Amino acid sequence: MRVLVVEDDNDLNRQLVGALSDAGYAVDSATDGEEGHFLGDTEPYDLVVLDIGLPKMDGISVLEEWRRADRKMPVIILTARDRWSDKVAGMDAGADDYLAKPFHMEELLARIRAQVRRASGHASAELTCGSVQLDTKTSRVTCDGQQIKLTSHEYRLLSYLMHHNERVVSRTELVEHLYDQDFDRDSNTIEVFIGRLRKKIPADIIETVRGLGYRMSSSPDEA
Ligand code: CA
Repeated sequence: MRVLVVEDDNDLNRQLVGALSDAGYAVDSATDGEEGHFLGDTEPYDLVVLDIGLPKMDGISVLEEWRRADRKMPVIILTARDRWSDKVAGMDAGADDYLAKPFHMEELLARIRAQVRRASGHASAELTCGSVQLDTKTSRVTCDGQQIKLTSHEYRLLSYLMHHNERVVSRTELVEHLYDQDFDRDSNTIEVFIGRLRKKIPADIIETVRGLGYRMSSSPDEA
């Protein structure tokens, strides 16, 4: 999952990028509204954390522009504690959730998980595909109840495929959603990680759809 952070407070921006990276997200960040707007307009994010008070272009305008251009990614706005009117304006501009500063990082991470799973059509924090279970809260993956050890890249890949199970996901989409802007993107690495995942979970759960990509399916034969 790839997340954009738009926050002009450098310390908070760094903290957010650090916490989100540690939580397994690919993270891009911007420190003003114009840059943030541009990134959100041109890159495919799974979620955006957007501060309201920003230089060059305020957060409400950024959000309104995205929604006008039909950008549908979930957006969580950050507001000042005493500015209830910002929350109202933000929600009306198309925000999916808000958090007032100062906040606990754990709460933001929980809200992000909830938005990401809602956006991909899941209500539960536990994703299941056949015998494989992924707990989005603890990042624990089990197969028939046995814990599977994954590297962070393998986890990111599995998590994306499980959020979008029963659908063909192209390699390009995987590259765009698993790596941040600065990453040297090479879609061959995806193949390598798929190969590694298949050695750790039942191999036929991740189906290769020739010429199109991969599909994670609980019943691959019927798909
Ligand atoms: Ca600010």
